[in-house]
Amino acid sequence: MRKSLQLSVVFAALVPACGGNDQIAVEAVSDDGQEVSAQAVSLIQLRGEQLGLDRNDVVRQRSRLVDELGHEHVRFERLYRGLPVHGGDFIVHTQARDGENFSAMLASSIPVSQRPTLTPSEAQAAAQKSLPSSGEYSMAADSRLAVYALDGDSDLALAYEVVSHGTQADGTPSILHTFIDASSGRPLRAYDEIETGAVTGTGKGIHNGSVQLGTNQNGTKYELIDVAHGSSPTINMANKTSGGSVFSQATNAWGDGTAANLASAGVDAHYGASKTWDYFKNIHGRNGIANDGKGAQSRVHYSSKYNNAYWSDSCFCMTYGDGDGVNLRPLVAIDVAGHEMSHGITSRTAKLVYSAESGGLNEATSDIFGTAVEFYAANGSDPGDYLIGEKIMITGKPFLRNMMDPTADGRSLDHYSKYKSGVDVHYSSGIANNFFYLLSEGGKNKTSAKTVTGISRAKAEKIWYRALTVYMTSSTNFKAARTATLNAAKDLYGATGAEYAAVGNAWTAVGVN
Ligand SMILES: [Zn+2]
Repeated sequence: MRKSLQLSVVFAALVPACGGNDQIAVEAVSDDGQEVSAQAVSLIQLRGEQLGLDRNDVVRQRSRLVDELGHEHVRFERLYRGLPVHGGDFIVHTQARDGENFSAMLASSIPVSQRPTLTPSEAQAAAQKSLPSSGEYSMAADSRLAVYALDGDSDLALAYEVVSHGTQADGTPSILHTFIDASSGRPLRAYDEIETGAVTGTGKGIHNGSVQLGTNQNGTKYELIDVAHGSSPTINMANKTSGGSVFSQATNAWGDGTAANLASAGVDAHYGASKTWDYFKNIHGRNGIANDGKGAQSRVHYSSKYNNAYWSDSCFCMTYGDGDGVNLRPLVAIDVAGHEMSHGITSRTAKLVYSAESGGLNEATSDIFGTAVEFYAANGSDPGDYLIGEKIMITGKPFLRNMMDPTADGRSLDHYSKYKSGVDVHYSSGIANNFFYLLSEGGKNKTSAKTVTGISRAKAEKIWYRALTVYMTSSTNFKAARTATLNAAKDLYGATGAEYAAVGNAWTAVGVN
């Protein structure tokens, strides 16, 4: 990402000094069109010696911020005898009640000589020698004198700032600023004007086809770290069960769609994590799994021939196996990703205990939102449906679970009359899965033959999310889930609406009264 050049526009002349220190010249400058702060100016004139400012300095307002508390914070740049002071910028807090009006790293006068020992061409030669050998740079062409204060007052020096243009090893352009001590020729520090960080890459997943990915540029490498989604990393476990490392490579094009290319599964998991984040953010206003803006890790290639995927609270991560290649393909499909991350949301909201009826509701919550995420992503290679895991099956059943007809997998329950204690939570979930399908789309429960008029999937999702986050507790059972969703429907759409009636009808159809 290219940092914008900080061009300042002088729109007022020097402000006449009028405070306690009449030797500090405050130049009224703004680079964002903000008014110059008279209060900040008088504070600098009154107390500027705290910052080491004296008659050799000129300060220029760079920007002015009024925060949500109505407090004013004004940034200034410092110039010493006309030379820019790198590291001399400071902030004036005009409403500080504790008398701490300044934030600054440099709080001393500047004792450096204005006269360089080196000539500009000697400084350029010194900068040239210090350029990174991994990149390609043309001869440094531009240099100017400055005060180097980026290490505070410990290494204050008159320096040349030398600008070199070139490319980094991976082809990224580079505009390198190198500070060279103007008396010794020592390189003090270099920084690249081309800032790396959040970038957009491309990927070819096993299940999701060609997709865009949020990635991170780190020097000459790219990493599968989604900076815009809580800096969520995707980790290659390399068939081990611990350790692992973030996917990292020299280009920002990931995977080739085959399982043989290890990054392909990383593409799917990374994509699934970002779509799940977007779904909860844009549909439910939830900022990440824990609603704190922090991303979760996705770990792929876990163990060997591992036929499962799981969420773990302790590592705040989801983990995907590659499948055994006989029954299952890599388990990184988007409905599986949405399913696993939804377990994280349940554990931070209702905390539905993972056994008996609450366990079935926990599993159903993950199937419901896994399905919602799949529809939300609208990926042409894996369009939305009410099936779970249809992309990861090789032989036998064409899906893991079917919300339209839970009994279609041969094990899941579609009606509460079939519930017995000890039923696996992945099968008792079918009761609530079918409730959700009937509420969304309408239709008939196979066991009760009762029909329901649907209210749309979008409304059903809102009702389930509100029930989960507002009304369900750790031991909510099916009957209490009926009450929780009715309460949610009443809150959202009113007690006399078709939505409230449909929620009741859908639960009745699956035998929960
Ligand atoms: Zn699950």
